[in-house]
Amino acid sequence: MEAIFPGDGIASIEEYEAGHNAFDDGDMVRAATVGTKEIDSDERTAGIRHPRVFSVPRKGDVVVGTVAAVMASMMAVRVDYVNGNPTTSKVECICSIRNIRIRNPALANDIVSLRVLGTLNGTVHGTIEERGMGVMFTKCRKCGGRVAPMRDAIKCADCGWIDERKLSADFGKGGFVRRDG
Ligand SMILES: [Zn+2]
Repeated sequence: MEAIFPGDGIASIEEYEAGHNAFDDGDMVRAATVGTKEIDSDERTAGIRHPRVFSVPRKGDVVVGTVAAVMASMMAVRVDYVNGNPTTSKVECICSIRNIRIRNPALANDIVSLRVLGTLNGTVHGTIEERGMGVMFTKCRKCGGRVAPMRDAIKCADCGWIDERKLSADFGKGGFVRRDG
């Protein structure tokens, strides 16, 4: 099972209406969040599967989540997957980005992978500094277009803007979802 990233087309509006966590852009039904595709052929809807499992990330876990906010030295990530399993816990993870020498290591609404360092006073702390962790999905900061990776940078396919991100080794790959999850 492959994860779908926000904005990905999941069905034609001629065949399906937008279901859970999806919207239609007048042409395609598109994903509004990260998740897996859910087609309901009775209701004729296409959507993104709602996470069902409640789990709180622990030290050492790999989290995939959506960047909720980016500040000068840290960012908040809403946890969507823990070790490849979807979660409904809606817990946020705080990530220090102080030591990352990149102007825009990640933007709000990017999908990132991170390693959980531990829990302190009820707050989950994690890092994207570890090799392989970082941005799995992002958009152009100028025009919102789709980007392609070029070494440590990304380039917009629409306007050509080149920008930096702390990229994950799994950039653009949705294969992190556990098959049995
Ligand atoms: Zn662009």
